[in-house]
Amino acid sequence: MAEFTHFYETFQPSHYNLYIDINRETKLISGLSTITGEAKTTEISIHQKYLTINSVKIADQEVPFTVNNDQDAIKITLPTTGEVTVAIDYTAPLTDTMMGIYPSYYELDGVKKQLIGTQFETNAARQAFPCVDEPEAKATFDVAIKFDEHEGETVLGNMPEIKTENGVHYFDTTVRMSTYLIAFAFGDMQAKETTTKSGVKIGVFATKAHKANELDFALDIAKRSIEFYEDFYQTPYPLPHSWQLALPDFSAGAMENWGLVTYREAYLLIDPDNTSLDTKQVVATVIAHELAHQWFGDLVTMKWWDDLWLNESFANMMEYVAIDALEPNWHIWEVFQTSEAAAALQRDATDGVQSVHVQVEDPAEIDSLFDGAIVYAKGARLLVMVRALIGDDALRQGLKNYFMAHQYGNATGANLWSALGEAAHLDVGAIMNSWLEQPGYPVVTVAVVDGQLTLSQDQFFIGEGQDIGRQWQIPLNSNYAIAPQIFSDKTIVLGDYHQLRQESGMPFRVNIGNDSHFIVKYDADLMQDILQHADELTAIDQLQILQDQRLLAEGRQVSYASVVPLLLRFADNQSNIVNAALYRLANDLKKFVEPDSTEEKALKAFFNKLSVNQVARLGWLPKTGESNDDQLTRPYILAATLYAENPDSITAAHQLFVDHQNSLETLPADIRPYILRNEVQHFGNAELFTQLLTAYRTATDSSYKAGLSAAITSTSDQTQIADLIEKFEDADTIKPQDLRGWFRYVLANKDGQQAAWDWIRDQWGWLEETVGGDMEFTTYITVIAGIFHTPQRLAEFKAFFEPKLETPGLTREITMDMKVIETRVNLVESEKDEVNAAIAKLS
Ligand SMILES: [Zn+2]
Repeated sequence: MAEFTHFYETFQPSHYNLYIDINRETKLISGLSTITGEAKTTEISIHQKYLTINSVKIADQEVPFTVNNDQDAIKITLPTTGEVTVAIDYTAPLTDTMMGIYPSYYELDGVKKQLIGTQFETNAARQAFPCVDEPEAKATFDVAIKFDEHEGETVLGNMPEIKTENGVHYFDTTVRMSTYLIAFAFGDMQAKETTTKSGVKIGVFATKAHKANELDFALDIAKRSIEFYEDFYQTPYPLPHSWQLALPDFSAGAMENWGLVTYREAYLLIDPDNTSLDTKQVVATVIAHELAHQWFGDLVTMKWWDDLWLNESFANMMEYVAIDALEPNWHIWEVFQTSEAAAALQRDATDGVQSVHVQVEDPAEIDSLFDGAIVYAKGARLLVMVRALIGDDALRQGLKNYFMAHQYGNATGANLWSALGEAAHLDVGAIMNSWLEQPGYPVVTVAVVDGQLTLSQDQFFIGEGQDIGRQWQIPLNSNYAIAPQIFSDKTIVLGDYHQLRQESGMPFRVNIGNDSHFIVKYDADLMQDILQHADELTAIDQLQILQDQRLLAEGRQVSYASVVPLLLRFADNQSNIVNAALYRLANDLKKFVEPDSTEEKALKAFFNKLSVNQVARLGWLPKTGESNDDQLTRPYILAATLYAENPDSITAAHQLFVDHQNSLETLPADIRPYILRNEVQHFGNAELFTQLLTAYRTATDSSYKAGLSAAITSTSDQTQIADLIEKFEDADTIKPQDLRGWFRYVLANKDGQQAAWDWIRDQWGWLEETVGGDMEFTTYITVIAGIFHTPQRLAEFKAFFEPKLETPGLTREITMDMKVIETRVNLVESEKDEVNAAIAKLS
């Protein structure tokens, strides 16, 4: 194993002069990186990856150098330490890996075109130019870009362009910043621009394949987000502009490059005339997330990647804080409960999961840190917990001080806790360390023992877990005043239950609002008391009942069969998030039934019972003036009634398809995926398959495309499935960025599973080559582990992935996923009879 040292210790750059010439025709990059900095030793190292170094010069004199590819290094010996300017002349290939400098492909009026863009996080700036590619190595940059330019093309950078000379575009000097935040892009683009109250220019850029009004929503959200953050952080936006650019090929969701944020098209552009509310909410939160980073991440940056959570957890919380302020009617914190909270609680319950704060050195391991459920979702949940503890006034004051102290520099988690702690007069760090440094979370057991109301905490596991006695400082948020604010002991006795119950007049509850990262196991009587008063609870608290029971069942702390009746209890609930939790639980029952069995028939009948009143209440088509809850609930209900094979619903969906046969994109976006899927499953044929696949290839609206892929992949026709598998490697049909979604759909389809599973095993090498370099790669394994639930698949999974256990960046994911599948297999084996009996009784 190579030893990893921080190059910043040998050489500390203060300024870069970058000249980069990119030729799309010859797919060649050539450049000159001139770096001024302080040499701390005479042997300095500068990062490079996949570069050909032609020369290294100091004061116009060539100096000897060596290249060490294992360490991504250029090693240079200097005559003395101290300030030095090193000029490195290099070339590099322009490749299609969606990392470094890369082309994005699209079609405009049948003509193939490309946009060139960049993606440098975490360590791909070194693929674009020699640099000290570490977050702490902040410097200023003068960037000059040349390319095989055509008339009318646009070129964008972190800073405004100041001049063009001999075809070279020169950008203004940046502020002091990290290399991973440098970005530029060029090609044929359209744009919409506006200005914030404080004079920051806001722009949205996209290819001309999109309608101009698809840029409007993002422009409005971006402008108002910047205005919101300037006010909330009490710190001005530090750059003259904030550009948002949609790239047709993009590996992650979006990237917070300072002043030039890049996005997947699906996360920036929407058709204002026909887009579902939940898609708008996702796009708005993604934009707000990236713009939160412009301060938190860009202005103040983590010192090293072990504190990646500082960036991501914080931005993930702020996206909700911002959108809640901009669009209060959306109740976006409710979405936080169904997305972030649910993801964090599930993943964090598997033994072997990473803690939020992780030590890392190996570049391949750094990429595997981006565990969405932990670094983003759990981290955000922890910060929500802090916010609830200290309040917004202290949060804002603390942040203002934090930005003031560390702006244009770097910080650690400890710096943030001390800033927030000082503002709140609370030892925030002491409370948070138990959450950040330890993986997992507690289940708090609440029981009446010998008449005494008693609480205890244990680590909660789904599957086998090694209990090493971890304890947490738990903000309890109870409705009984006698409960402490922070519960840090193993066990606590609150007092005589009957007396407490009488005094308070309500059922005892903890974690009200579900803001703390733990779940609760009430004893049977206490749970009964809560359920009897459940209608008086908020939607979040109702969701929490279903969510905690589901997790307890997954963790074998209650029987799965015992939670089945709970579904009927909430079936007619009108809150969309309660329905989200309800159908999450209902869909989890599918693993207990085999395809085409009597048990499956009973489960379908049960789904019909759950959904039938709601179908009658809501109908198929969105109604003008209906509530957000109704709009957002309908898709859950329609999915359920179609799974139930309710004949009226199948007919209704088919009729809607027939009515829109020649303009499927005009079907209401909220229900479109279900109508398309119904058509493929019940009325499918070769002609329909071709129609939908052609529509997918030519459509530019991402949400329409997502619905099409969900429908096409639900086919049971083996010829069509074989055809789809072939398309997996045809980038003109399925872009590599979208492949994982297609793969998951086919794998989840009982008639497609074998083919998809065979494909990924046969083509693992191809997959590694195509998307192996990016941070999303391990999620292919996660996707498989989310679906498999039979002993045979478990054995096959192990046979294939066990030999790959030592691959850098894959070890943790493979280990966890073997456990995830094994746990599910064991659960199904031991509880299926009981579960199916409970379903049969109620259906
Ligand atoms: Zn982020």
